[in-house]
Amino acid sequence: MKREHLIKPVLDRHYPTIEYGKGVFLYDDQGKAYLDASSGAVTAGIGHGVQEIVDAMLEQANKVSFVYRSQFTSEPAEKLAKKLSDSAPGGDYWAFFVNSGSEATETAMKIAIQHWQEKGRPGKNKVLSRRMSYHGITMGALSMSGHVLRRRRFIPLLEDLPVASPPYCYRCPLNKTYPDCRLACADDLETVVKRIGAEHIAAFIAEPIIGAAGGAVVPPEDYYKRIKEICDRHDILFIADEVMTGIARTGAMFGMEHFGVEPDLMALGKGMSAGYTPMAAALVKDHVMEPILNGSKSIMSGHTYSANPQSAAVSLAVLDYIDSHRLVESAKAKGSYLLNRMRRMAETIGIIGDVRGKGLLLAIELVSDRSSKLPFPPGLAVTSRIVDKAFDKGLLVYPAAGGVDGEGDAVIVAPPLTISEEEIDLLVRLLEETVREVM
Ligand code: PLP
Repeated sequence: MKREHLIKPVLDRHYPTIEYGKGVFLYDDQGKAYLDASSGAVTAGIGHGVQEIVDAMLEQANKVSFVYRSQFTSEPAEKLAKKLSDSAPGGDYWAFFVNSGSEATETAMKIAIQHWQEKGRPGKNKVLSRRMSYHGITMGALSMSGHVLRRRRFIPLLEDLPVASPPYCYRCPLNKTYPDCRLACADDLETVVKRIGAEHIAAFIAEPIIGAAGGAVVPPEDYYKRIKEICDRHDILFIADEVMTGIARTGAMFGMEHFGVEPDLMALGKGMSAGYTPMAAALVKDHVMEPILNGSKSIMSGHTYSANPQSAAVSLAVLDYIDSHRLVESAKAKGSYLLNRMRRMAETIGIIGDVRGKGLLLAIELVSDRSSKLPFPPGLAVTSRIVDKAFDKGLLVYPAAGGVDGEGDAVIVAPPLTISEEEIDLLVRLLEETVREVM
């Protein structure tokens, strides 16, 4: 196939061809090695070329690769549903398998709306979200996303821009400081709810730790408890978008565990199959399903490849690998080693304003002046210059929109959870060289 026949994200750019991957490295056909410090798009959680996953794939392919979801179920899909439900906060979740994070958040959105319809409250049909958020690229998921750059072309087709304040303490949009703010950003959700009317709102969706739209933005510890109280007070379901934070990435199996909150619905993707096959899920608590089970008994959502046995077998093997290699603990320990190394590096580089994150979901935010925290003018394209320079050096990092409305610069560092300390040292050396050369 000619390269020109492939649809590339940036059409006039040359993309190297990767031949194979092993551990935290990818190798192209020219022999160049890339340290995958972003796990692709925060996806390849267990690293590349893991033999156990290939074996599981082959074993399932030798049995059956595809059955259609409205005709059959399969052993790997059933086992996966149980394993996820048993490990998710509070347990008792139903699992609806889909193929991408966007489908997972949209499925959660639809089930939340259906929940209220079947309870006789069809007017509750809006899903609230925050500025500085990303829930996916399909139209329903994009309608809930505050990521300005990714929405721009489709504004006429989308819901109003998400409005709730994000918990972004580094440059608080409410000009307050934690803890004196008393979580004003969480209370802002209640102000929005009162303005719109709780009778119109089905759910509120949020990423436990903000990813692509902010760069590993960690809310204060007590933030989600307040959010859940507000949601409960107004009969609003809480959807945790764990597509990026879920499956051990932050040093807990699910990001929400850090905040001690049980969401009503969850969206999973990315690390769930660690990039070996497309796989994602909406997890839905029993009490959300109850009116549906007592009513229509059917979910008006699903895709041809939903609950694909091949992908379910891969995902199960990934979860087993995470258990047997203690990767939750590894994400925590390696994350704190990497965070310390990045903080030490930042001390000597004036344009790094903030180093943050949890486990192995970390980021740096770049500013023109550290004391005023003033972002760079957008024309300087600091984020893409860093990502591109790092790429040339054989280091993969992930661009994020820093700032509440995408006006800042941030770069995500989220290597596979299997990374060694020596590989982290190399990562930090290459990152430091990159930022210094872009300064
Ligand atoms: N939700 C979050 C938090 C994400 O980070 C992403 C992807 O970056 C998505 C949803 C969409 O996932 P996908 O790209 O698999 O559709």
